[in-house]
Amino acid sequence: MNYKLFISMLLFTSTILSFEDKKLIFIYNAKSGLVNEMIDFAHKIVSPETYECNLCAISYNTFTKKKRWSDYINSLPIKSVFTYKNKVSFLDKELSNLKFPTILFHNGAELNEIISRNEINNINNINQLISLLNERLDENGMKLKKGKDKNITEQEWGKKLTPEEFHILREKGTEKPFTGEYDKFDKEGMYKCAGCGTELFSSVTKYDSGCGWPAFYEALPDKIEETADNTFGMKRIEITCENCGGHLGHVFNDGPQPSGLRYCVNSISLDFDAEK
Ligand SMILES: [Zn+2]
Repeated sequence: MNYKLFISMLLFTSTILSFEDKKLIFIYNAKSGLVNEMIDFAHKIVSPETYECNLCAISYNTFTKKKRWSDYINSLPIKSVFTYKNKVSFLDKELSNLKFPTILFHNGAELNEIISRNEINNINNINQLISLLNERLDENGMKLKKGKDKNITEQEWGKKLTPEEFHILREKGTEKPFTGEYDKFDKEGMYKCAGCGTELFSSVTKYDSGCGWPAFYEALPDKIEETADNTFGMKRIEITCENCGGHLGHVFNDGPQPSGLRYCVNSISLDFDAEK
């Protein structure tokens, strides 16, 4: 083996592969010159039309979901590495057929591709990327931390929440229609659980359903739990916050395309964060 190559391999493996920790490795086509490689990777996938230009420093700022992406990566219980194909072209013989960009998972013993270039090319937005990553990490035995606020007692919730919030979130109440703060409300930003602060819906998917409560046609991936609710002689699907179990509202099949769903949510169950 070429001596220099051996040294570079050693360096590469010691920086990326030698730890026994589980690790996500994002590899993409070309070095962009930007400082934040993590943001760069997501930006290139979800905003290819603005990315490939000579004014990347400007287009970079158009990637408005960068906080969502960085929050997600930082929330993972494993380390993420972002790198370029020219740094890994000599990787492993078994991986030499990889097409870039690609996402690899190192489970502590071996390295496997978990999201291929073809799949990446079909990703249109950051939520799809996050959803697919969650799915693949799950398939690879990574139990992502879920429901960490489900151990909070009702007594503790009583101290944490206002009486109205407690009634809706913990006692599955419903606010009067056309009275909620976010019913007629169309600012851009993220809607979070009023109980635990978990982001649940993006304003991008909010629409005016006319039903008297805030409505969304899509929830953020893996943030909502659905349960059959047959109270009041109706067959409905209750939606709750995946993290804290707080009651949000119901989901119906009469929403607009592309999902055909209507997540009908109490304003009191939500807090709003304007887009920064
Ligand atoms: Zn919650």
